Amino acid sequence: MIYLDSAATTAVRREVLEAMWPYLTGDFGNPSSHHSLGESAATALAAARATVARWLGCRASEVVFTSGGTEADNLAIKGLALAAPRGRHIVTTPIEHEAVLESCDYLVRQHGFELSTVRVDSDGLVDLDELESLVRDDTTLVSVMYANNEVGTVQPVAGIADVAKRHGARMHTDAVQAAGALPLDVAGLGVDALSVSGHKLGAPKGIGALYLRGGVAVEPVLHGGGQERGKRSGTENVAGAVGLAAAIELASRMPGDALGRLGGIRDGFIDEVLATVPGAVLTGHRTLRLPGNASFCFPGTSGEAVLLQLEQHDIVCSSGSACAAGRDDPSHVLVAMGIDPAVAQTAVRFTFDAATTAEQLHEVAQRLREAVASVRAIGAPTR
Ligand code: PLP
Repeated sequence: MIYLDSAATTAVRREVLEAMWPYLTGDFGNPSSHHSLGESAATALAAARATVARWLGCRASEVVFTSGGTEADNLAIKGLALAAPRGRHIVTTPIEHEAVLESCDYLVRQHGFELSTVRVDSDGLVDLDELESLVRDDTTLVSVMYANNEVGTVQPVAGIADVAKRHGARMHTDAVQAAGALPLDVAGLGVDALSVSGHKLGAPKGIGALYLRGGVAVEPVLHGGGQERGKRSGTENVAGAVGLAAAIELASRMPGDALGRLGGIRDGFIDEVLATVPGAVLTGHRTLRLPGNASFCFPGTSGEAVLLQLEQHDIVCSSGSACAAGRDDPSHVLVAMGIDPAVAQTAVRFTFDAATTAEQLHEVAQRLREAVASVRAIGAPTR
């Protein structure tokens, strides 16, 4: 199988599972227990936290383990907005993951917040001038994702954080897709909060982390035993945290040029698809994009039908964001970028990692040309 859906999830790496194994079996203690098993779990959790902190360039006390990206986004947005609202105004973009959009919507529905949505251009880049005009004295939080999960466009997070900071608002970024592909130095980015998720980089599903700048007040979303310094109650997922740390260690041991090579094969694949598949349209920014993302629309097809044709050749990709799969609406990301909803229905996303080869992508490009031609010949199913 050629797996080109890494943005949806990745396999747990063997080294990661091996690192986790002791904490699922012999060393299964609860880190809050006052006996040797508990102490061993607490020590492992502290070591994992230190690794995440080194990766993010922050203090260990600024890392909150969560059950994944969705929970990290919920905690950042609800937690920061509700803890110390300067006012009840928040700003985000129309291309965020549902975890961000729905958390903002919750604040509007249940807590009377006002939400402003900053425009993105046809490449999916935030309009910084409009952002500047939207952020006000009563803006509590600005949340803009680092890299988009569907089209891979990378936002100028440091510039956006600068606008937020100048107006005294907090800045959160969803770095779930950026993690492992882009530098995550939180000081350089200038953010107050940053979300990551383990299963996008070789750790299991169900573990993530939120960076929360020291001294920034947060209202917990989960109440209970006061774990994670009171910011996230619930017995810690020790094995998951150890797995996340192991995945980070593996990512940081990748050869220095691995991401450059990935960007190179991505560009070769994009060029080949645009040259050989008639009518193919690249979505997202041509260069300011994740090194492992190539996403297109193929007008006159249905993304789902192209996907099914490719799967017959053992090529697995996505017709949109997996987190929104099961729904038939055109992607809110593509529509916000100004793409006609009928064309947005023809989207296919290929996402890959350092193990993907140029030869595999060449084969995919050839199969894709056949698939698009065959779907067009049959006629795309009407929805
Ligand atoms: N944010 C982005 C940008 C994502 O792509 C995803 C998942 O695809 C999430 C948040 C949610 O992360 P999780 O699946 O860990 O809840």
